[in-house]
Amino acid sequence: MEVAPAFAIRNAVSTALFRCNISLVGDAGVGKTSIARQFGKNTFSEERNCTVGLDITTRHSQSSDGQKIVYHIHDTAGQEKFKSMLPAFIRNCDAIAVVYDVGCRTSFENVSKWLYFVNNYLPVEAPTILVGNKVDLDHCREVSYEEGRQTADRSNLLFLETSAKTGEKVTDVFQQLSTVLRDRRISDIFHGQKAPLSSQGIILSEHIDMKKGCCS
Ligand code: GDP
Ligand code: MG
Repeated sequence: MEVAPAFAIRNAVSTALFRCNISLVGDAGVGKTSIARQFGKNTFSEERNCTVGLDITTRHSQSSDGQKIVYHIHDTAGQEKFKSMLPAFIRNCDAIAVVYDVGCRTSFENVSKWLYFVNNYLPVEAPTILVGNKVDLDHCREVSYEEGRQTADRSNLLFLETSAKTGEKVTDVFQQLSTVLRDRRISDIFHGQKAPLSSQGIILSEHIDMKKGCCS
């Protein structure tokens, strides 16, 4: 029986290594480095970590359907003096997390500036998540969950509140972005809109059984 190309593509995608380059942006001090470290190394430090330009954290993981995923988390510096370096980092990423501190109203008000800034440099519209960090400090809260949610909905963004300290929802931030990226790429390939899999950050495994599909 002839195998439909869609099955071959789905099979190729699910046996491939999937790479996600995700950039964290937002004001200095909101917890970008702490989120990257919690996700990549399961560690947290109360110390302020001064990020100079860019730090990249890598984590290997697996999707619920068994695909191997490699996350490269680009942790950018939030200070004005490093802003000129950001466009180069942003151009090379697949998805964005814009982070604010739920205990710092100014960092929330600056979210629109960060969104405007990244949208200027992204080559294509990239999945974006708005992240309200430091929810463990609930007594210091200056931005409610509803405000964060409404801002995200208005701009069509994903939304989560996290704590880099306790680890709450930190993994979900990256999983949600990679799920959107995988769905988009599979859909693009089905509709023939993009270049071959290997040029989209999807590395095909050496042996792909093209005859194997869900109906074979
Ligand atoms: P960045 O400048 O955005 O990279 O922020 P950092 O990751 O360096 O964090 C700034 C400060 O906030 C540090 O003292 C961290 O320990 C603290 N911090 C970061 N995330 C959290 C969090 O979720 N909860 C609490 N309580 N402190 C946090
Ligand atoms: Mg930092």
